[in-house]
Amino acid sequence: MNILQECMDAKFIGIGGHIRPDGDCVGSCLALYQYLKKCMPDKYIKVFLEKPADIFSEIKGFREIDSVCSEDTVFDVFFCLDCGEDRLGESRKYFEKAVKTINIDHHISNKGCGTINYIKSQASSTSELIYDLIEKEQLDTELAKAIYVGIIHDTGVFQYSNTLPETMEKAAKLIGYGFDFPRLIQETFYQKTYKQTQITGRALVESMRLLDGKCIVSCVTRTMMEFYEAEPADLDGIVNHLRNIKDVECAIFMYQTDVLEYKVSMRSNENVDVSKVAGYFGGGGHKRAAGCTMKGTFYDCVNNLSLHINKQLEEQEEC
Ligand code: AMP
Ligand code: MN
Ligand code: MN
Repeated sequence: MNILQECMDAKFIGIGGHIRPDGDCVGSCLALYQYLKKCMPDKYIKVFLEKPADIFSEIKGFREIDSVCSEDTVFDVFFCLDCGEDRLGESRKYFEKAVKTINIDHHISNKGCGTINYIKSQASSTSELIYDLIEKEQLDTELAKAIYVGIIHDTGVFQYSNTLPETMEKAAKLIGYGFDFPRLIQETFYQKTYKQTQITGRALVESMRLLDGKCIVSCVTRTMMEFYEAEPADLDGIVNHLRNIKDVECAIFMYQTDVLEYKVSMRSNENVDVSKVAGYFGGGGHKRAAGCTMKGTFYDCVNNLSLHINKQLEEQEEC
């Protein structure tokens, strides 16, 4: 797929990513936005995302993100990045009306929703796919920085198994553009506010082990979120703390989104494919990181999830 060729005849180009945008989503959308604006300065190009966390504000183009989606434009080309159209949120209406749609993603659960689909489940991140698709002579410091942020967020700073040798080779080329990558890693990935640290502590203290300690679950209720004045974005990273606990095969973190409704995040180590578990409940993701939204009481949700997790663990033991 040649991005520029696909956009050649377009006058209006839109870009959207998933709700509750993470580093890869913001990085890939802003990288594509910068690239298109640089190569096609005469076109009308817009990027739509639910309001991303301020930690990403130093990525070029951040202030041009439209989180309101009030215009009625029919886009000639609309890009759906790091998700399928079901998770686009407000910008889904542009995707549905667009003349041509292009879906670029790395989720194994995504079967492709565009006129053109570029889905590579091996890739570390959608940002890495943007790197692959752009003409390298167009790379500059700001574009490199956007892609780099996406890669470090989805690989846990090159720690997760989705980090391939070529991921690091590309990242090596990117840091050659001379941005302050240690500060970027610290400020966008590791640094947490006091409030985030407090609610993380609370979630860890209240966690429960299931299935002989192979599974662990923690839940943050709406009341807790109100108490700490926390937003969903403040809960990022809690599930990784749970996964790091010795003997844990699968970590579940949930936060309440409504009465009897929870957003579920799962992380696994080796033996559980959490994208399959999330898939049963209408979600998806990757083998070792997936999510879904579930209805019911906390205990209903945990029982249903642990049933599927246990089944996989038992199948593993049989092998
Ligand atoms: P999270 O636990 O929300 O950080 O998500 C872990 C991974 O699963 C990310 O790659 C998400 O994009 C993906 N994911 C989370 N929720 C869903 C969902 N409802 N449908 C498909 N993929 C999801
Ligand atoms: Mn994402
Ligand atoms: Mn991603």
